[in-house]
Amino acid sequence: MPSSISYPMDVERIREDFPILKRKINGHPLIYFDNTATTQKPVQVINAIKEFYEKYNANIHRGVHTLSQEASELYEKAHEKVADFINADWREVIFVRNTTEAINLVANVLDLKDGEVVVSMMEHHSNLVPWQDKNLEVVNIKGDGTLDMEDLKEKITKKTKLVAITHVSNVLGTINPVEEIGKMAHEVGALFLVDGAQSVPHMPIDVKKMNCDFLAFSGHKMLGPTGIGVLYGKKDLLEELPPFLKGGDMISHVWVDRATWNELPWKYEAGTPNIAGGVGLGAAVDYLKTVGMENVRRHEEELVGYALDGLSSLGVEIYGPEERGGLISFNLEGVHPHDVAYFLDKKGIAVRSGHHCAQPLMRCLGIKGTVRASFYIYNTKWEIDKFLDALKEIQYGLRR
Ligand code: PMP
Repeated sequence: MPSSISYPMDVERIREDFPILKRKINGHPLIYFDNTATTQKPVQVINAIKEFYEKYNANIHRGVHTLSQEASELYEKAHEKVADFINADWREVIFVRNTTEAINLVANVLDLKDGEVVVSMMEHHSNLVPWQDKNLEVVNIKGDGTLDMEDLKEKITKKTKLVAITHVSNVLGTINPVEEIGKMAHEVGALFLVDGAQSVPHMPIDVKKMNCDFLAFSGHKMLGPTGIGVLYGKKDLLEELPPFLKGGDMISHVWVDRATWNELPWKYEAGTPNIAGGVGLGAAVDYLKTVGMENVRRHEEELVGYALDGLSSLGVEIYGPEERGGLISFNLEGVHPHDVAYFLDKKGIAVRSGHHCAQPLMRCLGIKGTVRASFYIYNTKWEIDKFLDALKEIQYGLRR
């Protein structure tokens, strides 16, 4: 575990916690720039999961035996850690599989029949497709990749029941002004959902300050395991809304023809949950807290600034605004994004290429796809230099 929470972070020390970074890919040290898709896992998270199965494995909330009690405590503690991380009450933290499931949960329990849902053109499919059977209003983006706030003002009306917007775009890196958008939603009596998949792992998040009604995010994008994610929802709202999945654990009393619901968050966690995943996510949150989320953000800002300078000097097409999260989408003239990614992989560099689950945004930009490099706490400027060198090689190859 990194001992310092000061800046600059001891990245070399952090890197030692990530066993996968010792791997060679195609004979080169792994340079992992696909953190928007999923992040790597430190030994602290891997060990927490291993320890759970080795010492505490039992089903939760069902047994009076010691193991079941201990497993229940660990799982509840994980909710508390996550709640503290985003400044929520632990009962407002529902463990789901991922961001996608969190958003689908909300789409299934809200009654949106007589109103409109406002989303933006930069949404991931996860925050678009679940709303497509509602009356949808889609806010435009401006040429610089920021949200068109004038268009947003026009589209949030008395008919709006929900505004569902991403905090940080997984393609453009745009950081949306969520506090302001939340105010606009609440002024017309609408609810406000934030897709935090690309913000919660990368910057300090305070749900009270943001004043969102729902916040969705994924554990696997913040050092945690796959198969565990979070839906935060305001307590009064979650108490009022109906359950989503029904069955074991989410009930209080059951008769043959009816049932009453368990208290939060269990009302929304039907069946045996991903207990070890929850414990792993708790360990991931512990790790990020030790590093310090202000430090995470500053480190990424520095890396992204450095990479933007380098990419600009290569003359590649860059998408999205100057002020952004820790990711860059770009295209090399005359080369398909998959070919760029394929060449980089030969050098041990992992980047994502394609539409990034944002096909409407790609259409809006008039492109089929991009190459995307995304950074996290263990990335370095040395790695960015290697990445820029590899891109130069591609450009040189094209000119010959
Ligand atoms: N929203 C955004 C902004 C994302 O970047 C992603 C993942 N790329 C998702 C939603 C979906 O996350 P998951 O696949 O973990 O459900």
